[in-house]
Amino acid sequence: MALFIVSAPSGSGKSTLVYELMHQVSGLSFSVSYTTRAPRGSEVNGREYFFIDRRQFEAMIAGGEFLEHAEVFGNCYGTTWAFLEQAGREGRDLVLDIDVQGARQVKQRFPDAVSIFIAPPDRATLSRRLTGRGLDAPDAIEQRLQVASREIAAYNGYDYVVINDRLEESVAQLCAIVRCGRGGGSGSAAGRDCALAETCRQNRAGERLRVVLTSFGLPAPDPH
Ligand code: 5GP
Repeated sequence: MALFIVSAPSGSGKSTLVYELMHQVSGLSFSVSYTTRAPRGSEVNGREYFFIDRRQFEAMIAGGEFLEHAEVFGNCYGTTWAFLEQAGREGRDLVLDIDVQGARQVKQRFPDAVSIFIAPPDRATLSRRLTGRGLDAPDAIEQRLQVASREIAAYNGYDYVVINDRLEESVAQLCAIVRCGRGGGSGSAAGRDCALAETCRQNRAGERLRVVLTSFGLPAPDPH
């Protein structure tokens, strides 16, 4: 069974990308996390998350039910062993949508997990997207941008970076990374997937990544 970790700063379009991935690539299961945050909008208990209170969350930690957990924006989030075990039994690969702290923990436990960081094209675009979705007050947006900058600084702990500029292109890249990461494919389609995935390797993201990092005031890697 392969494990795929997808992380992104809030507002980077990760939910849409993960939704497309789950629909376009067969044999994948999505790990539904537990969280202490309240449901938003059209979220359904058991679909996006299992919504529980802090006491229940702490009981799950004590019971050893989480393979990783972290606090994000003042709420607790955790991935259970149960989803991993179920995916294993069903012979499916598992997709985890978790933050950078969770990604680090999972990579430590499962070094073969494939980790993918989704980055916004630049700070101004992320700011516009956060403002446009109308979920946050201006000071909360400023806080999200600061957190985004810290998260983006962790990009080099990931195997792949997808810069979500054009949706279709990003979906194609994400699907290719997953299909290639599964291995076992052969022929020209598998070759194309792996060639596309290769362009997203963290250490190959090059000039496009430099634009992202610089816009967030982060040091860009040496080109040589
Ligand atoms: P949101 O509340 O906006 O759905 O998610 C906030 C952040 O928590 C996102 O970065 C999301 O990836 C992350 N997250 C969701 N579930 C988990 C989890 O189980 N573990 C960790 N570490 N982060 C999670």
